[in-house]
Amino acid sequence: MEIFVEESALSHSLTQEVLKKEYPVKIISSYKDFEWEWVPFSELITLGKRRLFLVNYKGRFFRACPGTKNYICCGYHIFHFGEGCPLDCSYCILQSYFNRPGLKVWANLIEDGFQEMEKILKDAQRKKRILRIGTGEFADSLALEPIVEIAEKLIYFWEEKKPFAVLEFKTKVSISQEFWNKFKGNPKVIFAWSVNTEKIIKEEERNTASLEARLESAKNAVKSGFTCAFHFDPIVFYEGAEKEYPQVLEKILNNFPLEKIAWISLGTFRYSKDLKKIVEKRFPHSKIFSEEFIEGVDGKKRYFIEIRKKLYQSFKKLMKEVQNQVVFYFCMENERLWEEVLEEKYFSSEKLAKRLDEVAFKLCRSAE
Ligand code: SF4
Repeated sequence: MEIFVEESALSHSLTQEVLKKEYPVKIISSYKDFEWEWVPFSELITLGKRRLFLVNYKGRFFRACPGTKNYICCGYHIFHFGEGCPLDCSYCILQSYFNRPGLKVWANLIEDGFQEMEKILKDAQRKKRILRIGTGEFADSLALEPIVEIAEKLIYFWEEKKPFAVLEFKTKVSISQEFWNKFKGNPKVIFAWSVNTEKIIKEEERNTASLEARLESAKNAVKSGFTCAFHFDPIVFYEGAEKEYPQVLEKILNNFPLEKIAWISLGTFRYSKDLKKIVEKRFPHSKIFSEEFIEGVDGKKRYFIEIRKKLYQSFKKLMKEVQNQVVFYFCMENERLWEEVLEEKYFSSEKLAKRLDEVAFKLCRSAE
């Protein structure tokens, strides 16, 4: 990994900690003025996955998840610590999100970001509002952890400030025992793994941990006193998918104490038009687009409703068996599928947020 530090970010404590680790570091005037090679953008994305920029960030650190128009969303909040991911999933939406490549981490996160979050947490507490906060929206929450140790800082922050909020890290990496040994555990901190079938992990999720390694890390998270969660996202349609996805769910349900699973989400593959062009250039052998898709009301392409329904239905038997113990939800799906698969009539974003808030509430209470 090459590390670049903006001159104005040098004095920040996160930068100072990275510098102490003795990685070779180059000082640059700014990320904005960094001169990239004259190669096609698709190649720049690949180059950017090996270049980490510590940036003096001027934007907002805390924000509501944008969700997607006309679909049921969960009312999540994002603590924005940086952008980009060194892992390389063919379907990754981040490839089309940013018009400049590279991995960026906000060097002023501790001085400015933590302060901003503390204010918001206090304000929510005053209004008796529980918050669900995640860091994995524009990055994998833990892929850069050995270098920047942001999750570690947040876990200590949660321990010290005791906010009435849960914090979720979403990842596809495995985590060493050394990491878990640092903490005394906290049920309000949720380690969530995006899971998939071995086939999709092998074919479409480059540089990520195997399913076994992800589940092993999740077990260690639970053993260390944290809560875990799982996201089946994206669920990809292929011959045999309806048999293999439930097998992954079965493995989870058989290997974890159900009360330690905060939630399990399901979301079928969806993409924007811009993403498709990039994926075709970067991953010409990917089979991710080999089905037919329709354009949803949010402008994103999705599988036809019958395929989505078939995929979700394949989980149904197992979901029913544990329905009173584990909360399942669809990520960005429409009302019809909530009703036809989960038998939830007139479901809405408000109802989903309320249901997940109830889980968060219990986790907060159990930590007291
Ligand atoms: S792990 Fe997530 S953020 Fe990283 S490349 Fe894969 S989809 Fe993108």
